[in-house]
Amino acid sequence: MFGFPGFRGLQGEAVETVMRGEDVLVLMPTGGGKSLCYQVPALCRDGMGLVISPLIALMDDQVAGLRQLGIRAAALHSELDAEERDILHQDLRNNQIDILYISPERLLQPATSNFLSKRRISLIAIDEAHCVSAWGHEFRPEYRALASLPELFPNVPRIALTATADPRTRDDILNVLGMPDARVLMASFHRPNLFMEARPKGGESKQLTEALESHRSGAAIVYCGSRNKTERVATMLRGKGLTALPFHAGLSPIEKRATLMRFRSGEDMVIVATVAFGMGIDRPDVRCVVHLDMPSSPEAYYQQIGRAGRDGEKSDTLLLYGGEDMARARHWLEQSSAPDNEKRVMQSRLESMIALTETTGCRTQALLACFGENLSSPCGHCDNCINPVSTFDGTEAAQKVLSAIYRTGQRLGAVQLTNVLRGKTNETIERHAYQHLSVFGIGKDQTENWWRAVVRQLIARGAIRTHGEHGSLALQSEIARPILRGEERVSLRLDAKQSLIARSPTTN
Ligand code: ADP
Ligand code: ZN
Repeated sequence: MFGFPGFRGLQGEAVETVMRGEDVLVLMPTGGGKSLCYQVPALCRDGMGLVISPLIALMDDQVAGLRQLGIRAAALHSELDAEERDILHQDLRNNQIDILYISPERLLQPATSNFLSKRRISLIAIDEAHCVSAWGHEFRPEYRALASLPELFPNVPRIALTATADPRTRDDILNVLGMPDARVLMASFHRPNLFMEARPKGGESKQLTEALESHRSGAAIVYCGSRNKTERVATMLRGKGLTALPFHAGLSPIEKRATLMRFRSGEDMVIVATVAFGMGIDRPDVRCVVHLDMPSSPEAYYQQIGRAGRDGEKSDTLLLYGGEDMARARHWLEQSSAPDNEKRVMQSRLESMIALTETTGCRTQALLACFGENLSSPCGHCDNCINPVSTFDGTEAAQKVLSAIYRTGQRLGAVQLTNVLRGKTNETIERHAYQHLSVFGIGKDQTENWWRAVVRQLIARGAIRTHGEHGSLALQSEIARPILRGEERVSLRLDAKQSLIARSPTTN
């Protein structure tokens, strides 16, 4: 039916489990082949398979694909017109549908669930199952109500599927869906065709255009932290002659659809997006994913870079990050009104993300470790594997930075602090008479970028925090004090000079 020579990876086991009527949770990376895990048993078992999916566009794509294969599939959602709905109802009554895609809110409407519970249901698939988890970055409150499925459809096996693999989300899915005894099948999340690089920011626009320059064919996705920024960056890229479109939740449905259609059409282009551009994006030839702002967690990062190279061809990913961004993200979480337990989880995810950006070891190993997966040897396709990071004893440099912050009254941002260290005067510095301090000019021997890297790594380490609207640097005493006293050594990474992804323009 599907034209494949056989099952791939864990598909066979997933299918067998459902065929036996048991519950199963399938964790596979995007592109791993999750759909087949429920489509095959839906066709082989008696009755109609229900597939719960969060997005209408996703459902429509799947249905169109299945129908092309001659499979009787349909989607029931709010965008059907009256005629389509009537035809579907008739087909359902006549048992003419083998696989029905449906949104969670629709399924749980009493009229619908009443009607469906009288049909013979072969299985219930819960696609994008991580949407049940409030910890996740794609939480959907409607998914929580799926807890009532076993009552509505007793003895129907359930198969939950997701590409989000961290242990907490996994536990959440099993708990919320009430399937503690489900079999858990987890595929490797290693994506050998993805090159991973992370670099400190230093002239974002230039870094971005250089990276995109070497990826002119196929699609590229640029992730930004805010809607405004997506618009700004898209305009900047268009100014450089690239086809670049913004995508974020603030666009009208018509604009969104138009952009998605162009993206799907296969045209060479760049999408500049917030996290709203995500689920259901399965263009195979995304050759490059760039983050201009740090993702909120390793899970979000993995999902976003995972949109590259779905055709298995080599693709590049580049994460640009900065100390101020890290500090701002921490500050923002600190201020958030989320319940304490949620806040703690988000904080620990953010800290894992920060650690991941600064890691001196293999990035793939570090990323997979976040999902409980142990890659036995370094990947060979990340920046740190290809250009091993040099580290140096930065204790003295750290002490200079921390004392300079302290002596200047914890009022300066990173730029001015670097000026003080390097002995550069300007109006602000003179106004506060910083040039008379003992710390003024103690860092003359190093460049501005070098000091910025030290500051960033001290932020990442938690020795420095920021405060106030201007992001003034301040000491985090518990961590800063032992460093200042020389009780703790600080090992720092020497940032690579050249991006491995960006190819400097060869002409002009
Ligand atoms: P996911 O939902 O995990 O992102 P899909 O179910 O969309 O992945 O499958 C990804 C791609 O892999 C699709 O193009 C699909 O046709 C292909 N595929 C799935 N199973 C197999 C298989 N057993 N053999 C070959 N190709 C497969
Ligand atoms: Zn590596």
